[in-house]
Amino acid sequence: MNGREVDVVHRRREAVLVERCDRAFELFGDTARGALWPSEADRRVRFDVMLDVIDAQPATPITLCDFGCGSGELLTHIRRRGLTNVTYIGADRSALVLARARAKFPDTRFVQIDVAELNANVGAIACDYLVANGVFTAKWDLTDAEMWAFFSSTIRRTWPYVRRGIAFNVMSKIVDWERDDLFHVPMDAVAGLLHELAGRNVRLRADYGLYEYTAYARRQAPASIVPREPAVVPVMRPQLPSTASLSRYLRRIDVSRVYTNHGPLVNELEERLSDLVRLPAGAVVTATSGTDALAGAILATAGRGTSARPFAILPAFTFVATAIAAELCGYRPYLVDVDAETWMLDPDALRSHPVLGEAGLVIPVAPFGRPVSQERWLAFQAATGTPVVFDGASSLDRIVASPQSYVGEIPVALSFHATKSFATGEGGGVATTNAGLANRVARALNFGFFEGRDSRGPSLNGKMSEYHAAVGLAELDGWAEKRMALERAAHMYASVDDQSAVLERLVTTPDVSSTYVLFHAAGPAEAAAVQGALRLDRIEFRQWYGGGVLEHPYFRDVRHDSLLVTERLGACLIGLPIAPDLTEETVARVTSALVRALERNV
Ligand SMILES: *Cc1c(COP(=O)(O)O)cnc(C)c1O
Repeated sequence: MNGREVDVVHRRREAVLVERCDRAFELFGDTARGALWPSEADRRVRFDVMLDVIDAQPATPITLCDFGCGSGELLTHIRRRGLTNVTYIGADRSALVLARARAKFPDTRFVQIDVAELNANVGAIACDYLVANGVFTAKWDLTDAEMWAFFSSTIRRTWPYVRRGIAFNVMSKIVDWERDDLFHVPMDAVAGLLHELAGRNVRLRADYGLYEYTAYARRQAPASIVPREPAVVPVMRPQLPSTASLSRYLRRIDVSRVYTNHGPLVNELEERLSDLVRLPAGAVVTATSGTDALAGAILATAGRGTSARPFAILPAFTFVATAIAAELCGYRPYLVDVDAETWMLDPDALRSHPVLGEAGLVIPVAPFGRPVSQERWLAFQAATGTPVVFDGASSLDRIVASPQSYVGEIPVALSFHATKSFATGEGGGVATTNAGLANRVARALNFGFFEGRDSRGPSLNGKMSEYHAAVGLAELDGWAEKRMALERAAHMYASVDDQSAVLERLVTTPDVSSTYVLFHAAGPAEAAAVQGALRLDRIEFRQWYGGGVLEHPYFRDVRHDSLLVTERLGACLIGLPIAPDLTEETVARVTSALVRALERNV
């Protein structure tokens, strides 16, 4: 399942709910059947059971939120019972039923809200008591795991806005038979969830003659302050050098009045980056972006695509920029599946690939910064005569750990995008031990000029400016510290107690670049459960490569092999929040969502 399909699953409940509820309402009008309840008498029983949550004195004014209020019939019931101390707030996702409710009760507040939305304003339904009657009884075509994720997250998200207590009903497990479309939940599971919120102030009630039960949780002492809703956790919060640390480099630009064209700052940055990978000055050539760096490396290594060799073979599982760079250089991408363990192209398997004879180029990718072996691809290049260029966009921090294996004759394109571990905002570079090739890369990134103003080869303008070099130099000054901070954040994930199932699935540095923390789900169902739990806990995640190149509309028609591994990885690899200043609390919030998703999905 790819990212878009997972979103579709998330929307499915909403769509089905609104559709079924709205359809019933249209068919049966403002009656019990119109609200999908079999009988009017049963509905009134439920209303009374729900109102049983109120433990305040009859004279104490209270607010009650009717969560999933439909047309507001509970308010009719409250008025019939003469409960004049109750201020009623209706909340629902359906605009249709709310329109009816507002027409019936023009002086009452009705709020249209979907608490599953990341940015839902849950504070709008803050109340003393919240009742959810029939919101969790039907699961329609969701799985039990998906429905549990929806249910538990809804309770967790609304609870901070409830000052005194909540009540809701679910279907009982203690019945002669369970209906497939209803949500039958063990009482222990519900009690466990509520105990987390309310301690021992939990009550379950199944004595009113229906196939359901009602659960109540009350606060020990009414919460006087409703805590603010936890903020959204961003999946990545880059941190580049501060203006203060940039200023000494910017002042040099003021003095030199050289702004681009390989000025002093770019030269210094290239020297220091070369030094970082333990090579002489000139081994790293900077570029405007990782994509341009890759294009420059391709043009310098293999030139443009030809009619005899129109294809660039690349892995289907990569960020789309790999294909874009190939196409910019006149190649038609040909997508090959990756190895299930390494997530990379396999040079040995590729040697006998039928398209190799028509390929002018192969672009192995360093997935999530897992660096690509020079040795194996040099052997491939020697055996097949096909030029090779690495897209090592996010691999710099891994390459630096052992440059002798990962920097060599074959050029490695690097990205210095803000999301990568070494960042200049936008920027990139190419590293190679082949000095002649490094010169050709510099030429290809500068109009084909080399020691003169004549264009002498296929090229683009992909030169880094002095301003970006200033950021790069300041970034290098603090890079050791930044890497340690990122590694510390990754380590926090790997050291939260008592979550072995989660640990098994985490992929962190040094396996991948320190700018990624990945959750490798065991399968698409587990991935969907995890994504649901993260989404409902307002934790951003990203499938960095999505379902790979083929998923992009522009590349939908490119030629490709069967891509089973790519499809599976696209669905199962979930990027988790990471930042140099990630806190332990945030990591705990993420891991507890993961633990819950796995527990519910076993
Ligand atoms: C980030 C990335 C790129 C693109 O780099 P830019 O600097 O954004 O152009 C290309 N390929 C891979 C694998 C990447 O991760």
